[in-house]
Amino acid sequence: MRKVKRPNDLPLDVLLTCISNYQDSYLVKRLKSIGPEVEAVSEIFEDKVKNQRLHTLEPHDNVMSIVTTQEMKNVYNDKFVKKGQPGRDIYDRLLNAPTLNKCPFCGYRVVSTLDHHLPKAKYPTLAVTPTNLIPSCFDCNKTKTAVRPLTPQEETLHPYFDNVEDDLWLKANVIEQFPIVFKYYVDKPDNWDELTFQRVKNHFKVFELGKLFSILAAGELPMRELTLNRIYYKAGSDILRLQLKDYAESVEQVHLNSWQAAMFRALEESEWFIQEYFSHQGKQNA
Ligand SMILES: [Zn+2]
Repeated sequence: MRKVKRPNDLPLDVLLTCISNYQDSYLVKRLKSIGPEVEAVSEIFEDKVKNQRLHTLEPHDNVMSIVTTQEMKNVYNDKFVKKGQPGRDIYDRLLNAPTLNKCPFCGYRVVSTLDHHLPKAKYPTLAVTPTNLIPSCFDCNKTKTAVRPLTPQEETLHPYFDNVEDDLWLKANVIEQFPIVFKYYVDKPDNWDELTFQRVKNHFKVFELGKLFSILAAGELPMRELTLNRIYYKAGSDILRLQLKDYAESVEQVHLNSWQAAMFRALEESEWFIQEYFSHQGKQNA
């Protein structure tokens, strides 16, 4: 999970911008009248996200019986997402916030949409609240689906408020077979409390990161094999281990919990890979 700088746009300003070119004056009047409610619920939402209490925020069927869920969905879809409409500039800014346009949930695929952290179908008041809108790749957005957390452990990480980038938690094991399989898992750092650990594990499960990283690693190793094979035969297993350590440290400089770093660390720690892998294969790439 990658942290993203939280947007500073105020929920009420976003709502008013979005509805600024509606022709239906009665609709505009009703939408304007829910402004204080949007502000208040947005503030409660942020407070609960920060304190892992989001599961206590009750879903609602409409906004104060004044604006329907469908009308809030229309504001989002027709006035915020649609090109040329008044909210689109804000949408683009949120979408383009992550470094290199990488999806903060998987850290791998490219951002293509905004994900409602709490689904707009169940929380229409938060339909255009910027801190409820997180840049996401298509797959992560689809995988998460419109579920709401029922316990603190089920609260997936929020890239604007949660930061787990500075602690090493992503690990992998080498499954000793040909071709090698990497099994990824979340390892609890000593300084984490149990809730943080459970939330990261849940995030890892919900976004199916273990499966994604295993597939990526299975494709990465063959591209490194020629170099590693030559090192093994020319310089020996100790130098091979140092090379893997070097690869891991190089990737960690950019992202401590990247799948590549975990993959190289797993290879470095596998006696089987260091001592036997290339000799078992019996092919020397001189
Ligand atoms: Zn993603």
